[in-house]
Amino acid sequence: MPRKSQWVKVNFISIRKRNDMQSSDSLTVNGFRKAVDDFDAENISVLSNEQYSASKSKSKKLAMYVFIDAFGWEIYQKYGFLKDKLRHSRRLETTFGFSSAADPSILTGRYPDEHGHWSSFYYSPETSPFKWFRYLDLLPSAIFDRWRVRHLLSKLLAKIYGYTGYFELYSVPFGKLPYFDYLEKYDYFVPKGILNTDTIFDWCVENNINYYCSNWRDSEESIIKANMKIIQQGEIKMNYLYLPKLDGVMHNYGTNHLQVEEKIKWLEGQVEKVYEHACEYYDDVSLYVISDHGMADVTGSVDLIQEIEQLGLKFGQDYIAMYDSTMARFWFKNSKSKLLISQKLRSIKSGEIVSKEELQRMRVPQSDKKFGELFFLMTPGILINPSFMGLQVIPGMHGFHPEDKDSFATILSNREIDENINSITDIRKTMEFELADCLVPERLQ
Ligand SMILES: [Zn+2]
Repeated sequence: MPRKSQWVKVNFISIRKRNDMQSSDSLTVNGFRKAVDDFDAENISVLSNEQYSASKSKSKKLAMYVFIDAFGWEIYQKYGFLKDKLRHSRRLETTFGFSSAADPSILTGRYPDEHGHWSSFYYSPETSPFKWFRYLDLLPSAIFDRWRVRHLLSKLLAKIYGYTGYFELYSVPFGKLPYFDYLEKYDYFVPKGILNTDTIFDWCVENNINYYCSNWRDSEESIIKANMKIIQQGEIKMNYLYLPKLDGVMHNYGTNHLQVEEKIKWLEGQVEKVYEHACEYYDDVSLYVISDHGMADVTGSVDLIQEIEQLGLKFGQDYIAMYDSTMARFWFKNSKSKLLISQKLRSIKSGEIVSKEELQRMRVPQSDKKFGELFFLMTPGILINPSFMGLQVIPGMHGFHPEDKDSFATILSNREIDENINSITDIRKTMEFELADCLVPERLQ
């Protein structure tokens, strides 16, 4: 067996057996972990130091993907981003819904009706892990409506249930939680994290391509540091630099605030720093900046929950509803509730019922109705407030119709962007293209 810090050849790909990995490294350096865990002793030959130096001095290529949450096309038009380096840009269609639909679509290169991920909460009283929450509903809401209390409770629950994905209870009333199950139980940034298909990370593992994916639980500062550290080792072929904080800044301040400008400037500086760093260790660095969706400024809100509750129907007995911030989804227990709720929704001018055909066109999984029997989508800029996602109107929001100008995502690159790259589901094609050379076995002497 190779000892610590020796270089080994596994299925023609040279990797370093990292006995010195810390637990957080082993969580995120997926390519390494898989390769090290699965290696077959018969397939290994140890490289001498000379052989290793020789392989290191060869021409090396890195595909750097920088993901900036909510860095939409309109935001890019307004603020720009590393225009001297990233000369190629394209507006990308996003998927209908929230990040829980868009991010898996980027990583899988497929639509929600294929990969199976759409909204975090779906109707499933039988499998709901929140059944016992109906007892908590008796406690004073003043305590449990506080965002911080719910956030801590979400963390605790994730630990108890062993959830590794992004888990948040938001503002879903405790009495309503027992009707729902939660989709994102497992981390889809590690291999085998997606319900129905693979991701680019599964593909890398399958093809023995070393890559690095940021740990989304860390701060942006430590994510950047970790990426630089791993790039310096010169062993990976792709890194996924995950920068999620611009989204929160724009939720809190809208798209036109000085805070947004400053955040984007800071991101530019950081991305440039990592890119320059990569150029020191690689001969050829393809840099891509990508996003999942844009951001719209909020111009108003509607108390949809009150409108529906005024109908006098009983939640749970007549209907079930999930009030997301930009849409409401309904399930019906009888035809009367379907009729009354549909009539009510048609009378509300700041939103509309999404037809089945349109849901199908937008590739929302519909076969088992777990995400909704009827969808009501708000006009861009108008929030449902209060909703099950929040109790206050905030200045910026996404999750409106994907054809709204503020919904579109972005791809920027120092490489030409092929004309068939037009949707966030096309980003994976660029990744596989960039990594195509690695599919040819690297034969070492
Ligand atoms: Zn967001």
